[in-house]
Amino acid sequence: MVALVQPRLVNGPSGDSTLYLDFAFGRRAMLFDLGDIHVLSPREVGRITHVFLSHLHMDHFAGFDRLLRLRLNTPGLIRLVGPPGLSEGVAHKLAAYRWNLLGETSPDFALEALDWREGGFAAAALFRARDGFAGCPSTLPDLPPGLVWQEAGLVVEAVELDHGIPSLAFALQERLRVNVHKARLDEMGLAVGPWLSRAKERLRAGESGAVEGPDGQTLSLETLVQAGALQTADGQRIAYVTDAGWIEANRRRIRTIAQDADTLFIEAGFLDADREIANGRQHLTAAQAGSLAREAGARRAVPHHFSPRYETREEELTAEFEAAYRRSGEA
Ligand SMILES: [Zn+2]
Ligand SMILES: [Zn+2]
Repeated sequence: MVALVQPRLVNGPSGDSTLYLDFAFGRRAMLFDLGDIHVLSPREVGRITHVFLSHLHMDHFAGFDRLLRLRLNTPGLIRLVGPPGLSEGVAHKLAAYRWNLLGETSPDFALEALDWREGGFAAAALFRARDGFAGCPSTLPDLPPGLVWQEAGLVVEAVELDHGIPSLAFALQERLRVNVHKARLDEMGLAVGPWLSRAKERLRAGESGAVEGPDGQTLSLETLVQAGALQTADGQRIAYVTDAGWIEANRRRIRTIAQDADTLFIEAGFLDADREIANGRQHLTAAQAGSLAREAGARRAVPHHFSPRYETREEELTAEFEAAYRRSGEA
């Protein structure tokens, strides 16, 4: 099955933590964290609709200026969701520049910054280019507990981890995966066409009822599924965990957000031999991250956020992570 969302670490495992979630059919993208994004093309940056920030340490937020600069002259809204202090942080970043060249005739570009912690949204601010990014309060989203975003076909979940400061971990959960079985369509005498995209989208959004077929006829979504022309499976889960200390409260939340992930990206910054240093900075070691990935039942696990101290020893981190992740039997 072709996945709706393709995730990739834009700077690999050693650079700033930033995960680009590329929507294959939607011509859009989301980011988990906003470190250095210079390796993304302007076109790729142009597709970003949402940025989910774990915390406001520089290696997770320093890409803000490039995002702003590349998007400033294009109408559109980018939503940023992060821990408490995000909306204030965005206001301060914007206040560092002079915006006297902006006005009512400027492209209608805007940023919305939403502060979230485990109890829900705590603050929301909207910054419009046409107002010179003066900023004003905006409406707090009303979402079920544990969700930081919701739209037809997918949700983004979050948990709050302890890194000395709150550090959010995220999971993008697709509702359903929908694929076309061409031979079954042929048997039903139905030609492929744009109608199929609409039918797939409706199924992914959890809808039922009728769709318009290739010749304008009325087709039932249920019939298409029952005949096997459209086949559904559980949606993809992509989890992202970074910057958290090895304490029980974090371990429990990491196992929750990473549970049965199709792909889990998890920080593995230090070798276990340097566990004391990792503890002091409230980071996970590769062995700790690998064991959490295994306990959560992640189908694929990708370590990231390697400390620069292992610049020439990345394979040691990877090997230690893999050994803990693959270890079978007793935990
Ligand atoms: Zn950090
Ligand atoms: Zn970090």
